[in-house]
Amino acid sequence: MIAYLGRIVHDNDAESELDDDVSSISKSLDLQGSVENGDVSSLACKDFGGLYSVKPLFLIKPSGAEDISRVVKLALRTSNLTVAARGNGHSINGQAMAEGGLVIDMRSTEKNHFEFLPINGSHYIDVSGGALWEDVLTRCVSRYGYAPRSWTDYLSLTVGGTLSNAGVSGQAFCYGPQTSNVTELEVVTGKGEITICSETLNSELFFGVLGGLGQFGVITRARIKLQQAPDMVRWIRVVYSEFEEFTRDAEFLVTQKEGESFDYVEGFVFCNNDDPFNGWPSVPLDPSHEFNPTYISQTAGSVLYCLEVAFHYRNSDHPTVDTAVNGLLGRLRFVEGLKSQVDVSYTKFLLRVNRAEEQVKANGTWDGPHPWLNLFVSKSDVVNFDRTVFKTMLKDGVGGPMLIYPLLRSKWDDRTSVVLPEGEIFYIVALLRFVPNGPSVEKLAAQNREIVNWCIKVGLDFKLYLPHYQSKEDWERHFGNRWSRFVERKASFDPMAILAPGQNIFRRDPSNIIISREF
Ligand code: FAD
Repeated sequence: MIAYLGRIVHDNDAESELDDDVSSISKSLDLQGSVENGDVSSLACKDFGGLYSVKPLFLIKPSGAEDISRVVKLALRTSNLTVAARGNGHSINGQAMAEGGLVIDMRSTEKNHFEFLPINGSHYIDVSGGALWEDVLTRCVSRYGYAPRSWTDYLSLTVGGTLSNAGVSGQAFCYGPQTSNVTELEVVTGKGEITICSETLNSELFFGVLGGLGQFGVITRARIKLQQAPDMVRWIRVVYSEFEEFTRDAEFLVTQKEGESFDYVEGFVFCNNDDPFNGWPSVPLDPSHEFNPTYISQTAGSVLYCLEVAFHYRNSDHPTVDTAVNGLLGRLRFVEGLKSQVDVSYTKFLLRVNRAEEQVKANGTWDGPHPWLNLFVSKSDVVNFDRTVFKTMLKDGVGGPMLIYPLLRSKWDDRTSVVLPEGEIFYIVALLRFVPNGPSVEKLAAQNREIVNWCIKVGLDFKLYLPHYQSKEDWERHFGNRWSRFVERKASFDPMAILAPGQNIFRRDPSNIIISREF
């Protein structure tokens, strides 16, 4: 039976008006958790990007998978309701929103799972989909001396939110993204079924959900691979004036055997000037370190490159750290004299962006809009990308970090839903724009579109990371030969297109046929 907009089919098959009253919906759902109105001030209408805001019908704070299953089943009994899991709302383009739908605040489930599991000599942690990575880190290290192997740069993101994308940082060259470091999931599908899945059990759902942009199920629990946590990290930045030398060294480091390189390799582009956010002052790791521009050659261009690396060690290893680090640095060709280095605890290193957040919050730009753009660009096209985008379009910076570092395709599992450029080596590029008082947000968003359109026009081998597209053609092009698999997975696990409507890939259609959204 198909209900009309704003109506719900009750179990007795009699159609009636959907009660938009919080207490009656709460009662009819019989939740352990709670329900709030989706008014405009609600967190369900906001995300980190600050570019979009849509109003849901209700914000649901579930107590766990059972509640989420009930919410999905309620939506299934209507003709139009959709359901969006909201992790910590750190999307840029409204991906965790549901206009007129039901937003599930996954943070209310954060404490449901936390179990340390030694299995056959390896170690794992079971955590809630709504847990923040920063809490996973601090609890794992302080209680067990172990920690996940693969991270994001910033840790106020939820486990379910990053696993729905990939989860990438400077450890991914070695261990793969976070999606390569999970062995089991508990998922509530778009049919409302609570399903355990892994590489060997319900594997199509397992791989579909990883990098699946929330399209196939809500992750309520994840089993994450752990490693012994080091005590300390030597954190180092070195500078290059030539892109080719920067990429040569970065690629050298990420292609060494495990244990024969740094434990973390990233990099960023910065302006060859004294601008406090975009230029030389953004490089030193410690305020007492000066960036001395006299070391930069007169022939250097408008932008320079910084390779950022880190070396893990235990306190007892301290005497051997210099030898190991200097051995690796000795093989690199950075500009002599432009090196900054500090020793920090392992947790302090991983929480570095959370500390920067506190500083940026103090100047008010953290809460403003963030028209960010993330891409994966194939090694074969990265020199062209540097020449056109960094050296020309973005030569004055973006008011925040412009990350670029290499990753290895072989560390990613191509059974997941993530799509990558061709070729073994590709670069993640992240334009992390902050907008204090520079050009308008519209201008910056237009510049992002210009970059993406240029990539398409010249036939660059690239993919958007955290993709945001508006038409069926764009999504088909994004997924390429993986599109039909993505659509089949949708038909299997969320045939009514209930889940994650804010991704704008599928739209809920009363006729029950999944079609890509046209705008
Ligand atoms: P949300 O924004 O709440 O949700 C994102 C999508 O996932 C939505 O479609 C939502 O419906 C879905 N979703 C959320 N929870 C679940 C769940 N439990 N099950 C199924 N679907 C779910 N990414 C990196 O890879 N590396 C980085 O270093 C990195 N740094 C970042 C730093 C900052 C400051 C910010 C704002 C973002 C960063 N990101 C990074 C991007 C980040 O990984 C994604 O935006 C991620 O989706 C945010 O997680 P979230 O918990 O806030 O998810």
